[in-house]
Amino acid sequence: MIFVEIPVLNKVSGELRDPACVPDRADLSLRDEPIVQPNFGTLVTRFAPSPTGFLHLGHAYSAWMAWRLAVQSGGRFLLRIEDIDVTRCRPEYDAALQDDLAWLGLRWEQPVRRQSEHLPEYRSVVEGLWSRGLLYPCFCSRAEIQREIEAAGGAPHGIDGPLYPGTCRRLSADEVNARVQRGDPYALRLNLERALESVPVELCWMDLQRGDQRAQPEVLGDVVLVRRDIGCSYHLCVVWDDALQGVTHVSRGEDLFEATHLHRLLQALLNLPVPVYSHHGLLKDAAGKRLAKRDRAESLRGLREQGMCRENILARLRLHE
Ligand SMILES: [Zn+2]
Repeated sequence: MIFVEIPVLNKVSGELRDPACVPDRADLSLRDEPIVQPNFGTLVTRFAPSPTGFLHLGHAYSAWMAWRLAVQSGGRFLLRIEDIDVTRCRPEYDAALQDDLAWLGLRWEQPVRRQSEHLPEYRSVVEGLWSRGLLYPCFCSRAEIQREIEAAGGAPHGIDGPLYPGTCRRLSADEVNARVQRGDPYALRLNLERALESVPVELCWMDLQRGDQRAQPEVLGDVVLVRRDIGCSYHLCVVWDDALQGVTHVSRGEDLFEATHLHRLLQALLNLPVPVYSHHGLLKDAAGKRLAKRDRAESLRGLREQGMCRENILARLRLHE
């Protein structure tokens, strides 16, 4: 059962108005090419897709941007497989995405980190937050949250949908215990108020596209950090892994810009280093919708099968070696 839709890192999309390959006229709304900043150590970037389908051009663009940022700076480029959602991830997509990226000309360090192989690590991170009273169990179904929000006359939008109204934060300890004993499934949410109390300093990050940013985690509410179906979450794992792998520059789509408010807070709570961020523009299809993995014809794999060459793809994305 999926409790909360989480943004998946590779939900990167982009504007692509012409289905034919016309390299010299592709009117792509790509912009904001990252500026390589002076760096005092080795620059480390990563591309971190979820193997839930074939990569599309938006992924190709995102991967290329991260790779180029590293290569141009004499840095390191990592590939990380974000496969915590075992119900949706498939080994064949894992193999296919690596094949597609290699075909595109990208090279990355080995071994590749697979999140599914590190679940105990994430568990211990969760236990640390739990022991500090920063998490609480949430038993709400999505329908219950929706009803609560409607009864309250609406809720602001957060990164994972409408802001959680805090229902389970107000449960008594006895009630929580009773429901846990009864076996009611639950997610663990961040107690944002307590989290903010424990990091009193102003949180900032450096964004290559938008300049210095002040984190505003208060606009995100009590986010689920441990999904009840998989025992962890994208937000928790991505923050942990970026730090663990020494990623200095996170290059990703601007659809994840809002999530950075939360990621910055998690870095502060976990005492992790803060990477520089680069949130690039997104590709969209002719109808203005974000590219989706379900469209095989528009996948990198599908385009390869149709005979499109690597140079065409790069030209279509306005990418240069
Ligand atoms: Zn709840």
